[in-house]
Amino acid sequence: MSFTSLGLSAPILKAIHEQGYDTPSLIQAKAIPVVLEGKDVMAIAQTGTGKTAGFTLPILERLSAGQRVKNNYVRALILAPTRELVAQINESLIKYGRYLNVSSCAVFGGVKINPQLLRLRKGSDILVATPGRLLDLYNQNAVKFSQLEVLVLDEADRMLDMGFIRDIRKVLAVLPKQRQNLLFSATFTDAIRELTKGLVNHLIEIFVTPHDLTAQTVEQSIYPVDKHQKAPVLVRLIKEGNWRQVLVFNRTKHGANKLAHYLNEKGISAVPMHGNKSQGARTKALADFKAGAVRVLVATDIAARGIDIPQLQQVINFDLPNVSEDYVHRIGRTGRAGETGKAISLVCADEAAELFDIERLIQQVLTRIEMEGFKPSNRLMASCLDLRPTRSKKPKAVDSGSQRSGENMRHYKPSKSKTSRYLGGKSHKSGNGICGNNAN
Ligand code: AMP
Repeated sequence: MSFTSLGLSAPILKAIHEQGYDTPSLIQAKAIPVVLEGKDVMAIAQTGTGKTAGFTLPILERLSAGQRVKNNYVRALILAPTRELVAQINESLIKYGRYLNVSSCAVFGGVKINPQLLRLRKGSDILVATPGRLLDLYNQNAVKFSQLEVLVLDEADRMLDMGFIRDIRKVLAVLPKQRQNLLFSATFTDAIRELTKGLVNHLIEIFVTPHDLTAQTVEQSIYPVDKHQKAPVLVRLIKEGNWRQVLVFNRTKHGANKLAHYLNEKGISAVPMHGNKSQGARTKALADFKAGAVRVLVATDIAARGIDIPQLQQVINFDLPNVSEDYVHRIGRTGRAGETGKAISLVCADEAAELFDIERLIQQVLTRIEMEGFKPSNRLMASCLDLRPTRSKKPKAVDSGSQRSGENMRHYKPSKSKTSRYLGGKSHKSGNGICGNNAN
């Protein structure tokens, strides 16, 4: 299949060609024609699948025809959870729309609002925004929606995780009822189902499951290791593998700082990136990493969410995420757009429950590798794959005061699964579990 058969016009095809894209990705092939038809779409797709072009291309196409946008009005609104993702979506719009006369702009918190107020005065065909800043701008009368034709919720699951549901509902309440709705989410939870219900009319569902995605291009493995040995193991992996660039995930901001410091001490250039860093520092960390000036980016989940780093071959989970869906997001940073990548997790005995949750979500037992000289003294329990579907987590109520504070916004605590659930008990006896043969 080629892009020409998807119903896109010459100026867009030219821009895509210049990007070096030959064939549409699966999500693009599925989504572009239905979005062009004006239908509502709900797609389960993570970053790395080409989903951004899956919605930006048909939106650009659609908006290139039709009425001019009035001052302070917008014709399409794209909501996304983080500043980085908002900026990246806008960059894509600029690239793909370079031969069209469709305007776009990006607004997010953490920077001055005045330039954004000024920019919105002349209207924007497409506005890409984080929910909190959008509401601030709306409350100051800077943005009006009666010309709105399309709404996109990108990484909707993450927006819910971050406590944006109230802001999203407030935004939905002020949008015209007659509009096209597109919802993209990496996971399909009850909360997403609930959000979708109130949102869309004649829904077309496009599913691309995490399992399909993780299996295709990312080689996944784990290194069982004692907690205090994780940093030395990481250093050895980077040095012996001669890795040029690696993205390392850390669950906490403090941990990210500490690890970056340790790596620098060992002669490996590293910068931390997390929600306590200013927008300027985050942008610089990402730019330095992309430019190859820094070898390791140590990021927390939310800071790294959605960032697009072409040709990133290694992703390390220095610790496992609490929420298993985050694992899929994390490893989605590598193996993007058909390239192969490696995702390695350093797992200590305390993280068995998180590991089993992840293996249950991706329905696969991860290959275990032991590094010579680092045999763990606390043994990591053997895996036993639980084939029951993963239960979705319902967000607990959030207090509105904490809603816009970046990483601290994570408000739901997933119920920690009991390690014993995977071993013995029901799933074993009934024979519906698959025990890993590569367990140690
Ligand atoms: P996304 O999932 O939207 O974050 O895109 C992941 C990466 O794939 C980005 O670097 C895009 O530039 C790239 N990409 C998107 N679509 C294609 C395509 N059809 N062919 C090659 N690369 C693509």
